Amino acid sequence: MKTKKPASTPCTAAIKKPLWAPWRIRYVQDAHKPAGCFLCAMLQAPRARDRENLLLVRGKTSLVCLNRYPYNGGHLMIAPRRHVAELAALRPAEHAELMQLATRMVAVLRRVMKPQGFNIGLNLGHAAGAGLRDHLHMHVVPRWVGDVNFMPVFADIKVIPQALEELYDQLAAELHSTARSHRR
Ligand SMILES: [Zn+2]
Repeated sequence: MKTKKPASTPCTAAIKKPLWAPWRIRYVQDAHKPAGCFLCAMLQAPRARDRENLLLVRGKTSLVCLNRYPYNGGHLMIAPRRHVAELAALRPAEHAELMQLATRMVAVLRRVMKPQGFNIGLNLGHAAGAGLRDHLHMHVVPRWVGDVNFMPVFADIKVIPQALEELYDQLAAELHSTARSHRR
């Protein structure tokens, strides 16, 4: 008598490919071009270009920017200003500001986008899926119930209903209005 194999769980696939984001093909294509670190480049660019570079916060030791190739609307990246790859290389002030900025941006995203949850994390190394391997960065991805189910069908209109620069303006306004004492 044959024993049925247990059905394979979909969990593994869900973790490896959490969200369907077809525009990320541009990111993969761009990644083949030889280029410097885009986080360092946006910091070195004049502040007048922060909006086009999607750089939201220039902190004392760390930065916040919108991900140009988001897994979901409001996908942010938080990184130390220094070009370091390892957690162990972070100074105490960088550790502290990374978490402070994550806390602050979750609050800002809650007010502006009304997400029902967040995925926040670090991809360390190529095997973990880090696209930008040498400059440590934390991902903050807002989530809504049903976003995974609907995205394959409504990809372009459902996931990013707003232009990135329009969203940048909303988040920047919220940052400004709720934390005037905190210099950008
Ligand atoms: Zn860098």
